[in-house]
Amino acid sequence: GVEIFRPMRELRSVLHQGMVGLSAAQGIYQVLDDQPEVADAPAASLARPLAPTIAFDGVRFRYPGTRRTIHEALSFEAKAGERIGLVGPSGGGKSSIVRLLLRFYDPEAGTIRLGGHDLRGLSFDQIRSMISVVNQDTFLFHGTVEDNIRMGRLEATEAEVEAAARAANIHGFIQSLPQGYRSVVGEKGVKLSGGQRQRVAIARALLRDTPILVLDEALSAVDAENEAVIQEALDRLMQGRTTLVLAHRLSSVIGCDRILVLDGGRVVESGPHAALMQQGGVYAGLMAEQARESAAGTIIDLPVAVR
Ligand code: ATP
Repeated sequence: GVEIFRPMRELRSVLHQGMVGLSAAQGIYQVLDDQPEVADAPAASLARPLAPTIAFDGVRFRYPGTRRTIHEALSFEAKAGERIGLVGPSGGGKSSIVRLLLRFYDPEAGTIRLGGHDLRGLSFDQIRSMISVVNQDTFLFHGTVEDNIRMGRLEATEAEVEAAARAANIHGFIQSLPQGYRSVVGEKGVKLSGGQRQRVAIARALLRDTPILVLDEALSAVDAENEAVIQEALDRLMQGRTTLVLAHRLSSVIGCDRILVLDGGRVVESGPHAALMQQGGVYAGLMAEQARESAAGTIIDLPVAVR
């Protein structure tokens, strides 16, 4: 059935330098199976590479053919090298920001700029060659672990693949496999845990080496030991890159330079963790709620509505 096409889509996405995810109802990410809803622009001839900055300016957005406005008047900036955390209620539009940034859709009003250029004046290739998305549901195709990592950059040498694997804290595990880097993974091969798949995704992103990174809830569903190893790999990956961290669990944004709290289609609070806590507003309330929930042993996730 439909699953047969998934690797094809996945491959197409990689060829497009996409590595893009789309939020499914379960909160899992899947590769986009729809084509962008907008027409590609001819590649702008740019004198130099675009700066790794992102600016949303008064963005209003609805999915085509739907009535609900997801973003009312969304404005924020990410400076070069800045780590921005995005938090807000489930369905509040965090993943939609990423789809807009990758220009799968155009806003109804307002402007989105990459390196100071309106996205509508850049080609998909120009946009996507700047951005890597590391998400929860890393797709492994039936092939060697080496080739799975090489998806990040098809012309990477063996030495480059290994260096990326080391930096992603997955080299040791790969070496422990009977066939090492030649071991076949995927459905009929070696099964990798969620944490191991995430590290393969990090290795791919390291190979892609884009100046902008989107981490989508990168630490969910792994145990504490795995979490420390993954966090270390993520810290290496984020080094020197402009990063958007999309979080359901607030703990993953505490270290961000700035956290944006989305609600009702706008940024309602913005600042570093400590400042937002001191402010005693929405963010501080969410934190308190999450602390209560984790103390009660319930699954940690954001409540459906902030208000
Ligand atoms: P979560 O934390 O649950 O992942 P989110 O903040 O990332 O949520 P989005 O995935 O951006 O939220 O979704 C915002 C809203 O848009 C949701 O109500 C979702 O159902 C809706 N939505 C997402 N994709 C589409 C689509 N392709 N067409 C129509 N509506 C969509």
